[in-house]
Amino acid sequence: MPHLTAVLSRAEIHKKIKALGNRISEDYGGQEIVIVGVLKGAFIFLADLVRELRIPVQIDFVQLASYGSGTSSAGHVAISKELELDIACRHVLVVEDIADSGLTIAYLLDYLKRFRPASVKVCVFINKTERRQVDVLLDYVGHTVKNGFLVGYGLDYNGSYRALPGLYHLKV
Ligand code: 5GP
Ligand code: MG
Repeated sequence: MPHLTAVLSRAEIHKKIKALGNRISEDYGGQEIVIVGVLKGAFIFLADLVRELRIPVQIDFVQLASYGSGTSSAGHVAISKELELDIACRHVLVVEDIADSGLTIAYLLDYLKRFRPASVKVCVFINKTERRQVDVLLDYVGHTVKNGFLVGYGLDYNGSYRALPGLYHLKV
């Protein structure tokens, strides 16, 4: 029977996202950005974050299939849903649920560069540090943890737990 331990409450998450929204709004100084959300995990984080921004935004999504199983990704990443907006010469902010090995974000940055954006920055809800394999620059981080498998607030385990309003550590 899976066991959940609370990591962040809904209220704590809200405070962190407000702070992120403020920083991002200040940094871009009124310029419009294109937010590229990574499905599915980032959908709740993205929905909350964009409503804390005071700059104009357009929103698009990509989906990545990373072929691994269980609680870790094996490092093979492929695009399963392509970008639809034209990001050439535009400021792009990638919004992802969690950076673990870093392979997914590294792959995505590579993919996005092909479309010649003016800039690309990365915002993750969770920075999980212990298993990092590639050194990716995370411009905005909501919360940092060392290890463990997290669920809730968009993050799933085999498709479940995404709708939990808080963030939890899962022990199978
Ligand atoms: P990376 O490529 O950085 O190793 O992993 C990125 C992807 O692995 C995330 O987008 C997420 O889908 C999945 N992942 C990594 N750690 C966790 C975790 O603690 N919980 C959940 N639910 N997914 C994770
Ligand atoms: Mg993901």
